[in-house]
Amino acid sequence: MMPLLSDVTSCLSSYDPDALPVRDAQRIINDFLEPVRETETVALLSALGRVLAQDIISPISVPAHDNSAMDGFAFRGADLDPAAPTTLAVVGTVYAGRPSNAAPQAGQCVRIMTGGVMPAGCDTVIPQEHCAAISDDSVTIRPGTLATGDNRRFAGEDLMAGRPALEGGRVIGPADLGLLASLGIATIPVTRRLRVAFFSTGDELRSIGEPLDAGCVYDSNRYTLFGMLTRLGCEIIDMGIVRDEPQALEDALRSACASADAIVTSGGVSVGAADYTRQIMAELGDVTFWKIGMRPGRPLAFGRISSDGKSAFLFGLPGNPVAVMVSFYFFARAALLRMMGANAPVEMVKVKSAAAIRKKPGRTEYQRGIMSTDAGGNQTVRITGSQGSGILRSMTEANCMVVLHDEQGNVSAGDMVDIILFSGLM
Ligand code: AMP
Ligand code: MG
Repeated sequence: MMPLLSDVTSCLSSYDPDALPVRDAQRIINDFLEPVRETETVALLSALGRVLAQDIISPISVPAHDNSAMDGFAFRGADLDPAAPTTLAVVGTVYAGRPSNAAPQAGQCVRIMTGGVMPAGCDTVIPQEHCAAISDDSVTIRPGTLATGDNRRFAGEDLMAGRPALEGGRVIGPADLGLLASLGIATIPVTRRLRVAFFSTGDELRSIGEPLDAGCVYDSNRYTLFGMLTRLGCEIIDMGIVRDEPQALEDALRSACASADAIVTSGGVSVGAADYTRQIMAELGDVTFWKIGMRPGRPLAFGRISSDGKSAFLFGLPGNPVAVMVSFYFFARAALLRMMGANAPVEMVKVKSAAAIRKKPGRTEYQRGIMSTDAGGNQTVRITGSQGSGILRSMTEANCMVVLHDEQGNVSAGDMVDIILFSGLM
């Protein structure tokens, strides 16, 4: 049984849709959503960026045997004389990847290559460049050169057979591909791609290629949304620009519902006139309209649209080009990741503010920042010039968001502030 938004909001001790703190909105969204459960199996090379559907248990130990970390000579550490040079007889050679029967006894050693399996009884490797002398049949080690156990890698020190190698929910990255390959795993269970339909609303919008009529603007939100959704690994359904007409909006939302798990729209959710978006959204489903205590991006519609027995979660983002990105990053992103079954928290870091920042307590501000490292290696952040919610340039110039929390007031130069690097979001 699908919950209603009212079931979720009634759990909050105080709920005012017209003055909703960011964290309450994030919590309602999180509690209302349902993850997509279907999974599929993909080849390792197709798994990059996908969400691991279950824990991967290591079928083997890596490395499978104790082996040498260096090119050198393997021997028993107990043979080392702490006070005088130790000379060992060389009784064989061990190459990486080639089994050997070498079994040096006390006072003996074998030449060994990096990755070569340690012969039984040997626990220490002297790198060849650390030997005091090397001849065809012996090596000499000066006292104090190394200790028992040096330069030996243990079987299973990377991964132990039977232990979890990767946890379900992980977004698979390059290192994970390598790790899975090291286990000999060729196919990976992942959650199926999330299908996300998106469109822009507004009669003033023109598509690139069309003439820009008086008072019109080019639709940029569809391009930022395309970029953000693609980076998240969604399967995207670009529905273009939808006119501010009831029938056009209804058709668009119904058709999005038929094929998508989630719908992301921009524009038409504030209280301005000539917007049918809110009305149609409300008619087609369980949708609520919020004014969030944040800047930029106060208006947000959220809920579930239903049509012909199908339903899709709806994120009605504001129209302003910066607001749409900020609302996407701080509401839709985590929500879509949760729908994908992904566990990918965003890291906030504290950095010194290079200058004072004006900030009103009682709302969360997402200012566009440029973090840089000075000659002394210290990181500071400064705000990009104009912070208007329509100034997309502030996003392209920035490399991070400065997050000024609800309770926070003015920031003085030198104060620490929370930032989120775009590299962690995009
Ligand atoms: P709205 O939320 O529909 O009132 O739009 C707020 C502002 O954002 C208006 O100035 C719109 O022209 C602008 N806007 C809305 N949608 C887009 C879009 N897709 N691309 C660029 N600007 C937009
Ligand atoms: Mg509009």
